[in-house]
Amino acid sequence: MLEQLKQALATGYDLEWQDKANCTGANANLFFPERGASTRTAKGICRECQVRVECLEFAITTGEKFGIWGGMSERERRRVRKERQIAAARKVS
Ligand code: SF4
Repeated sequence: MLEQLKQALATGYDLEWQDKANCTGANANLFFPERGASTRTAKGICRECQVRVECLEFAITTGEKFGIWGGMSERERRRVRKERQIAAARKVS
């Protein structure tokens, strides 16, 4: 996550939303679980987070490949990206 944030800072992303992150101080292993481990606790923390939308958008926009961001797993974010690509392609044609 740290490398992704450094990259985001370098490219000018607004990261002020992180000041309100509900996961501040939480165990990072919850948000970056081993393959097959439960994501329920992390997603529960995200569900109560006031910057969930900003967090999710950041992860989708930057192509974050690992962890729970905005209450979604990598696989769930990949699906959203794909749906957006399909919707964008429909607009063009
Ligand atoms: S949505 Fe989840 S991962 Fe994102 S800042 Fe909030 S608690 Fe943290």
